[in-house]
Amino acid sequence: MRTILLVDMDSFFASVEQQSNPALRGKPVAVIGSGKRTVITTASYEARSFGVKTGMNVWEAKKVCPKLIFVTGNNGKYTHTCRMLTEIYSKYTSEVEVYSIDEAFLDITGSLKLFGSPIEIGKMIKREIKERFGLNATIGMGPNKLMAKLASDISKPDGLKFIRQEEIPEAIERLPVDALWGIGGKIAEKLGALGIRTCGELGRAPVSLLKSRFGIIGERLKLMGMGIDTSPVMSNEETAKSVGHSMTLPRDIWREEEIEAYMLKLSEMAGRRARRYKLAGDTVTVTIRYKSFRTFTKQLKINRHINDTHEIHNTAMEIIRGIKLSDSVRLLGVSLSGLRETGMPAQLNLLSGHLKKENLLNTADGINDRHGDSTVSWAAYMPYTSRPAVISPAWRPAGVHRTNV
Ligand SMILES: [Mg+2]
Repeated sequence: MRTILLVDMDSFFASVEQQSNPALRGKPVAVIGSGKRTVITTASYEARSFGVKTGMNVWEAKKVCPKLIFVTGNNGKYTHTCRMLTEIYSKYTSEVEVYSIDEAFLDITGSLKLFGSPIEIGKMIKREIKERFGLNATIGMGPNKLMAKLASDISKPDGLKFIRQEEIPEAIERLPVDALWGIGGKIAEKLGALGIRTCGELGRAPVSLLKSRFGIIGERLKLMGMGIDTSPVMSNEETAKSVGHSMTLPRDIWREEEIEAYMLKLSEMAGRRARRYKLAGDTVTVTIRYKSFRTFTKQLKINRHINDTHEIHNTAMEIIRGIKLSDSVRLLGVSLSGLRETGMPAQLNLLSGHLKKENLLNTADGINDRHGDSTVSWAAYMPYTSRPAVISPAWRPAGVHRTNV
């Protein structure tokens, strides 16, 4: 179980301006670009109370708030503050993803023992930001990025909210679908045409219906409606943290032989990518999503760095054999982490730090776009073609699996 924290600065640009010029404090301020036909980038909360909004042009804004003070934005000031803020976050965890200039995701799963509960960590970060920069931040927390973002959105400004795993169903049941990060007006409209207006309805919608309407993202939409999001916090470091693949299977499976066959294919995909970038890892992670959409990962750290397909496969199968499957499986994933370089590959020599990571991620995205959730059938690997008629007697009722060994 992860704990993800999102820091979202309140009216960031306007607040930074109010801090650097005390004459602006407590007043309606709008930050604008330097061009002639400029629009409002950020409005202070004082301005918002008059109805001034991001995206308004200067004339519209003056009409709703005649006393509005316009300040031309200063990017250097904001990026500097962003870097200083990142230093604060880094004291709490190394897993920091600066998502935008005023938002950062922190994976604080490993920090709880040292710093206290999520709420306590959130309070400490808020306090430190306030003391050092005079700025307000809203902090949302949850078991994933989607819920952390929601917690932040519904508690702005100057908020602090933690949506616990067990609180998710109630928290999202009646929320309109576009309250979820990533669901915009257009998708909401299409969902509405299917009679789906709330997250609860989205989570219960048949995945076949969503897929027929939205293609690949249909499955992702259903997961969002259930409050599930497995995307990792991508810390802004130089090299990728893991290489791997997952795939939704053409049909739900449960036999070890079938799983083994898919794991071989996935291990080959992960291994091939690791070798291509001259990376080897000492940790293999297996992701399993059941038919019920319950998803978990389990990893095994070994005592050497590997990128050979069969070594990855053997380790993945060792993990699989340690799991008592409680349902049939709809998605499998294999990834390799704890990476280190085995030599500098020619095509990466030219790329420095950030670009190198981008390149890896882009490659991953490219491949996922082509193969990912679109359900590739690896027929050649499949020794079994017919669906078993009965449930294996070895099945156990669903329980909580430990995610680390
Ligand atoms: Mg913000």
